[in-house]
Order: sequence, then structure tokens, then C-alpha cells
Amino acid sequence: MAGRFAPTPSGRMHLGNAFAMLAAWLSARSRHEPIYLRIEDIDTPRVLPGADRMIMDDLTWLGLDWDGEPVYQSARQAVYDAVFERLRSLDGDALLYPCFCSRAEIRAASAPQEGDGFLVYPGTCRRLRDEDRDEVERRLAAGRRHSWRLAVPGAQEPSAFVAFDDLVYGAQSFNVGRELGDVILRRSDGLYAYQFVVTVDDLLMGVSDVVRGRDLLRSTALQIWLRGQMLRTGLGSHNLPAADPQYAHVPLLDNAAGVRLAKRERSLDLGRLREAGVRPDQVIGYCAWHMGLCEGVLERPEAMSAQQALNLFSWRKVRRHAGDVVVPGNIVEVLRAL
Ligand SMILES: [Zn+2]
Repeated sequence: MAGRFAPTPSGRMHLGNAFAMLAAWLSARSRHEPIYLRIEDIDTPRVLPGADRMIMDDLTWLGLDWDGEPVYQSARQAVYDAVFERLRSLDGDALLYPCFCSRAEIRAASAPQEGDGFLVYPGTCRRLRDEDRDEVERRLAAGRRHSWRLAVPGAQEPSAFVAFDDLVYGAQSFNVGRELGDVILRRSDGLYAYQFVVTVDDLLMGVSDVVRGRDLLRSTALQIWLRGQMLRTGLGSHNLPAADPQYAHVPLLDNAAGVRLAKRERSLDLGRLREAGVRPDQVIGYCAWHMGLCEGVLERPEAMSAQQALNLFSWRKVRRHAGDVVVPGNIVEVLRAL
């Protein structure tokens, strides 16, 4: 059993990242489990040089320790290549197929999506593979630029339904055919996609305790399904837990205008907070309060160490405080007053 920190080094951590990291640490440490640090730097164009060091420095500053050496996804290309080949040869090449579509073609062929702008692939190249395999082979032989997509079950197939029990948000059920569709596993520039590398890493690192923001609930359904396919290739059968991990998704933090905190908004990142004289116990105390850990113990948020927060932690409390957190405009003063 193990947990993980899985930051993307695209910038410095903000308060919302600190909140999720604290939750991951509390979950693992409350069960006396190790927690690994995985630097998710596979998407090299998005990586900010030095951000990995800042993330580690901020985690240490907060008192959130980890076990072993950090694992860099950028150093695991051979692992991903091997798993990709296993998946590709599964069921007579049925699971992955090349997609030659441009972004504009996909957009033009897709039904408009509501919500977060997630675009379900309309299946153009899946039909091409099913109807004209020779044409696919011709395009591949001609060196046509292509990504590789995962052929998920159609929306009507029973296997398209993936259910899991989230420790905070309760029973979840998604239709991977309708709500995710044939996602890309390897991009046309050769980089492996987030969904693929996270699933590989969680499986091969023996991660059994996944804690992250609630914006990834839908991705979890896909990762559970993809993990099942990886297990079918024989991966993870030696000394590794084959059972699905325990999942806990935590609330997100919005600014006073209702906009989700993002790494590009430097205003609330830990660097700014530290420069303004905010102490780590103030950040932990603020997050612990909004996680619901102080319920029945404190009247108002108070500064506390990560260890003190650990003494108060239970998922049962977090579940009762599952609403997103609004960070006030004067957060620096709020924190410094704790
Ligand atoms: Zn296509």
C-alpha cells in the first residue's frame, strides 16, 4: 500500500495544490504507508525548468515528506514504450488504433460539448480501421503523422460503465464510451498522454491510495478501465496489488471571482505567500480548516503543523466538507492572522 504526490512541474504550487498535497500526505501517513513523489514532466513543452526543485522545496517547507527518490516520468520512456507495445498487441491489435485527424477535423466532426470543453473523439479513424485496413496500412507506410487512440467500449456496451466508490464524493459511475471516448494514448509528436503514463505509473509503482482534485473524477473512470486492460497483458501480476486503488478526490480552490486557481496565476502561489511572510503552519492550518479537520475541535482556523493536522485527520470529516473553497482576495492577511 502506498500513496503518491504527482505534481506537474509547469509552475510553482498554489494554495489549491498545497491543499491536495496535504490531503494525499495525510491519507498515506494516517495509514502508516509510504508516499512517493512522482514528477509528472512527460509533457515536456509545458515543463518549467526548475519547477521540480521549487515543488520539492515547498513540500519540505510545508512539512510534507516523501519516501525514496523522486521518480521523473521523463526518465521512464522505455517503461512506457514497453507497456504501449503490450497494449497494442492485445486482442489482435484491437485496443489501439492510429488516428490521422487534425484537431480542426475532430472539432468539425464532434457534437458540441457542454461543461469543461472536453471533446469526445467522433471515431473517424476507428471506422477507417474497421472498414479499410489497407488504407490504414498505406497511410502508416507513407509516414503520415498520427496519434494512437484507445478503443474504449461503445456507449451501449455494458463494459463501458465504470463504477467506483470515492472516499469523499461517494458512489461514482461513468460511461467511458460516452463521457470520455477514444482518448489519445500517444500523441502525434510521440509523447505519451497523461492518462496513459499515470495509469502505468500507478500500477507499476504499486500505488494503492490516489488522492487528487475532484476535476479528475472522470479521468479516474478511464484510468480504472485502462488499468484493467494493462492487467490483462500480464502487467502487475508479480507482487503488486491487482485490486483497484482507493480513490479520494478533494475539493478545488477558487479565487474570490469564482475562478479556479491555476499555476499561471502567480498571485496565490506559495512563492508569493512565502515572500509575504506567511508561515507553513498558517498554510496548513488554513487548509486543515477548509478540509473539515477541525470540526468539533476548533472554533476558527488556527496555525498548525502537518503533524498536528495528521492527529485530526479522517476521511469521514473531509466528506462532510466536500464543497469547493473560495479563497478571499485578502488571503495573505487571512493567513498571517492565523
Ligand atoms: Zn482520426
